[in-house]
Amino acid sequence: MDGLMMDYPLTIAHLFDRVGRFFPRTELVTRRPDKSIHRSSYGDFHARAQKLANALQRLGVKPGDRVATLGWNTQRHLEAYFAVPLSGAVLHTLNPRLSATDLAYIMNHAGDQVLLVDDVLYPVFERFAHEVKPKHVIVWGHGGPVPPNTIDYEQLIEPEIPSFAVPRIEENQALGLCYTSGTTGRPKGVVYSHRAVVLHSMVSAMPDSLGLGQADVMMPVVPMFHVNAWGLPFTAVMTGTKQVFPGPHLDPASLLGLIASEKVTFTAGVPTLWLGILDALDKNPGAFDTSSLKAMVVGGAAAPQSMIEAFEKRHKLNVLHAWGMTETTPLGTVSRLKPHLDGRPDAERFKTRASQGLAVPFVDVRAVGESGAPVAWDGKSMGELQVRGPWVARSYFQNPVEADKFTMDGWFRTGDIVTFDAEGYMRITDRSKDVIKSGGEWISSVELENALMGHPAVKEAAVVGLPHPKWTERPVACVVLREGATATPAELREFLEPMFAKYCLPDAFVFMAAIPRSAAGKFLKSALREQLKDYKLE
Ligand code: AMP
Repeated sequence: MDGLMMDYPLTIAHLFDRVGRFFPRTELVTRRPDKSIHRSSYGDFHARAQKLANALQRLGVKPGDRVATLGWNTQRHLEAYFAVPLSGAVLHTLNPRLSATDLAYIMNHAGDQVLLVDDVLYPVFERFAHEVKPKHVIVWGHGGPVPPNTIDYEQLIEPEIPSFAVPRIEENQALGLCYTSGTTGRPKGVVYSHRAVVLHSMVSAMPDSLGLGQADVMMPVVPMFHVNAWGLPFTAVMTGTKQVFPGPHLDPASLLGLIASEKVTFTAGVPTLWLGILDALDKNPGAFDTSSLKAMVVGGAAAPQSMIEAFEKRHKLNVLHAWGMTETTPLGTVSRLKPHLDGRPDAERFKTRASQGLAVPFVDVRAVGESGAPVAWDGKSMGELQVRGPWVARSYFQNPVEADKFTMDGWFRTGDIVTFDAEGYMRITDRSKDVIKSGGEWISSVELENALMGHPAVKEAAVVGLPHPKWTERPVACVVLREGATATPAELREFLEPMFAKYCLPDAFVFMAAIPRSAAGKFLKSALREQLKDYKLE
């Protein structure tokens, strides 16, 4: 039909041009490893990213080549976020918390040609350097000499001109690559396209999604190696939002210091991070000015309701619960109250806010039960969450083994077990491999954990199912107590009793010093089950 719209590719080249033109004076702030503060701007970033793109071309990087990064959240990492895809190459973020074996596997599987690495993370690279073959290693240094056979980043980009002729980029071209490490099998690569990142940024910025605008100050605490810091650096460039990068210093006092000094309005991270911040605020009343903060996004693992309530009631801070995965770029759902739910009693409001929320525009969701049919949206029926949308992966990078994660009719099987209520709010009850099957009923480990973490003596709790001769499996709660606090199994059981059906209550409570965690900071239930494998239930 004639009279239609232009065929304009959705690529991040537009976001990059726009921020350089409209927001050159908006600040970018980075905390260096020595804790000093580096102040810069989008104007500076715009010039330096183009210098980097020219330098990469000079080093022989071709469209489609993979360029890896091993870095904390910094302005230089943001430069790579744009320079690499603008040159037509693929930005591959590596997680320094993974084992050397996994990192070597991932770099080789991806075929990375170049590595950009923080000087403070160079020792991580050294542990697997002999197993990989990037053509060039570029070090984000801080003035001192760089290791032998590596290139100093500043010296590399210094002679380049701050203007790069961007080649034609198609919207479905690869922009980035991120590996997700399951608890079983090898890590799997997810490839993000320009189109996916652009559409994801647009929807993320919407007021009822994460909500970001030019008046905000955004501090991503979620690492830039974890699903592109949930896409936030891209979203903030699109909206012209000031960014504050905490570098390697992720302790509560450093982060709270930046929130106060930079007047951060928006920040994001995993629940364990916010539990640490909550503890610091509780212990030092009045020590940190958090009055600028409008939203603290929490995701990556379930946010305990008690934590959301504590932030709001004790510190007037708004925690926004969101769900996503590496395979979904990652934003899938956000829990904001619909206006008619806002007036409800506190107990109900907080319960809804602690759910994973409503699917954002362009993400379709359904929960599929054991029969293979979608379950009712009644707040009770559980099923496996399946999603589809323009920023949901269609397959893994060069990995035919995991093809069964993608259904014949075009959905991605997340492996999360969920319910939907009649309003559409989604609640994660488990990972499919963690759900506890007891006497034909499913018991949600996540609900038990969240309830336990509401007990004043409990710092952390993880619940796993252990084999049981009669019931197949029974729940066992692993509990870390707060410093100096005490609680007996009987007290904890009594605390849970009013909230759960009797068959859901844990058969045992095991106290431990720490709960094993994955590289992304999540409870590692496979390790817990292994730890408890000789535990005999009565
Ligand atoms: P990753 O790909 O490493 O980001 O992990 C994605 C998985 O983390 C999801 O499939 C969920 O199991 C879990 N997850 C992410 N966000 C949440 C959340 N808000 N509540 C509970 N689990 C979550």
